[in-house]
Amino acid sequence: MTLKNALERFYAPRKEGKKKSLTRSRPERSELELLHNYKKRVVRLGVDSEKLAELDLDNDFFWMFRLSGLLALAYHKFDLVNQTHFDSKLPRPRIIYCNRSTGGYYNRAKHTIGISLAMTVEFGESEFYETLLHEIAHILVHSHAPKFYQVLGSIGGTGKKAPLTLLLAAKRKRHIEANYPVVVHCPKCLRERRYRTRRALRYACRTCCTKYAGGKYDERFRFVLA
Ligand SMILES: [Zn+2]
Ligand SMILES: [Zn+2]
Repeated sequence: MTLKNALERFYAPRKEGKKKSLTRSRPERSELELLHNYKKRVVRLGVDSEKLAELDLDNDFFWMFRLSGLLALAYHKFDLVNQTHFDSKLPRPRIIYCNRSTGGYYNRAKHTIGISLAMTVEFGESEFYETLLHEIAHILVHSHAPKFYQVLGSIGGTGKKAPLTLLLAAKRKRHIEANYPVVVHCPKCLRERRYRTRRALRYACRTCCTKYAGGKYDERFRFVLA
């Protein structure tokens, strides 16, 4: 698909959807509200308080200016990309923060880009812009097909994955703990493993069975509760 096609597709009349409701849709949550929400989540998930202290999350004043300042720069950046690469033909999307754990999204129906507040707070400007470019590329290519990375590369994105935030790491950890609650280890090599059920106590360490028992199941290397 050429860029021209992509642009035409973008401008193609969309099917008439439902009539817009007369009541106003829910207002977007403010930066501070999202920040407070993020803080609550990381505290509840037990993220290391020293790491949190470094982020200075209680400094509302600082964050309010920092976050809204970045949004203003994001619009500026979009205009620049639009002018340089698309002849200023793309309509300006709305750019907001969202409560995703990392990265962002592009909502085609609302023509809105959301950027993870958690990621912005933890990783700052460089990842914020990386995600912004990623989502701008999604305006033209919906999927992550090779064409997407072509567009992304042409507007200056690196295409690297969104970073692992404290929030995402804590969420993953909690998920694993909840779903694989049985912690066992091999009595020989002491390597720890997690399983869903206590059936794990019937298994033996594959590494040690291979190494010392010719690949056969050996009682001596049966898992014990850690
Ligand atoms: Zn994407
Ligand atoms: Zn072992």
